[in-house]
Amino acid sequence: MIEPSRGTRRVRAEFLPYSPPSIGQEEIDEVVDTLRTDWITTGPKTKAFEAQFGAYVGAPGATSLMLNSCTAGLHVALATLGVGPGDEVVVPALTFAATANVVEHLGAKPVLADVSPDTLCIDPASVASVVTKATKVLMPVHYAGHPADLDALDALADANGLHIVEDAAHAAPTWYRGTMIGSRANLAAFSFYATKNLTTAEGGALTGAPERLETARVLGLHGMSKDAWKRFDKGGSWAYDIVAPGFKYNMTDIQAALGIHQLRKLAGFHRRRQEVARAYTEAFAGVPALQPPTERSDVVSSWHLYVLRLRTEHLRIGRNAFIEELKARNIGTSVHYRPLHMMSFYADKYGFAPHDYPVARDAFERMISIPLHPRLSDVDVADVVDAVLGIVADHAA
Ligand SMILES: *Cc1c(COP(=O)(O)O)cnc(C)c1O
Repeated sequence: MIEPSRGTRRVRAEFLPYSPPSIGQEEIDEVVDTLRTDWITTGPKTKAFEAQFGAYVGAPGATSLMLNSCTAGLHVALATLGVGPGDEVVVPALTFAATANVVEHLGAKPVLADVSPDTLCIDPASVASVVTKATKVLMPVHYAGHPADLDALDALADANGLHIVEDAAHAAPTWYRGTMIGSRANLAAFSFYATKNLTTAEGGALTGAPERLETARVLGLHGMSKDAWKRFDKGGSWAYDIVAPGFKYNMTDIQAALGIHQLRKLAGFHRRRQEVARAYTEAFAGVPALQPPTERSDVVSSWHLYVLRLRTEHLRIGRNAFIEELKARNIGTSVHYRPLHMMSFYADKYGFAPHDYPVARDAFERMISIPLHPRLSDVDVADVVDAVLGIVADHAA
């Protein structure tokens, strides 16, 4: 239980980053151990991490496919489903650019849907309004670690013959109505980027039905019919075929060395994230100028991000000035995200106006991601709460 001390106007001595990695001696020792073996790229540690991660999320076949990023996972997932020119893929307007960029890479069209005002995940009603005969895939994002409404998306996918690919970059670990993200038959892509809940510096994983995962494995390594790492193993063979012009997306054992220990710590990391999120929400609930994030009753969020929205009508300053005030108090923040339709490439290519996705735009203009990570001490949390409440008091309308 964290008891924030309120009302102090002390400025903390050190800058508090919003999401630094949590790397311990175990990770460092395992990386060094890897460097002392002959397997520095994809090898036994990657294989072990694939099985451990697959078992952790309850993936089909208790396995997964490790790749060098979540972006690679999303790209290969769509390629596995044969997405190409003439196809449309529905993505939320409020997401990281990679979700839509991979659709462009395949020559297909990303079609945006607006998000739900409470969770900021893709809104099934908005999805229903943009599905056409060309739609092939729905790509929900479990925004900030809160699951998208998968039952409603499944119903749309079934009615229209569509695939689902989950952008699960934020979703380790996330549960939707008792089911863990990563346990479904459709492909789901996780991120192990430096700021994510589990990190391998750069890295990602795909989960899904074993036969789909095998196609993805081939496409993620040059389109080779056999794993390259097996070629150099005892009993391996020099012979391989190229069955498709695949990509070079494999994870290295140096990355897997980090991941194996990060995975063992993930449940503990998650408990601390939940504690911090609860403390923030208790401190901010009832403050008219602040809108804490929602966790629906039938889900468990991974609490990847704590996205606080300002009710700017109660303030004399806007979101950007609020961020500057936090910086002056040594509190690091970020913004997740400027919506895709407000990015110049997508706005220019598809002729979007800022008001086209009003929920995403309104959320963007009022949102701040405040520090949320397992290394936060109770004092750090109290510092963030004091800074936010202090700025609200200083600038109340
Ligand atoms: C981080 C992120 C990605 C990309 O992950 P990488 O591992 O950096 O490729 C994709 N989608 C979302 C929503 C993300 O936050």
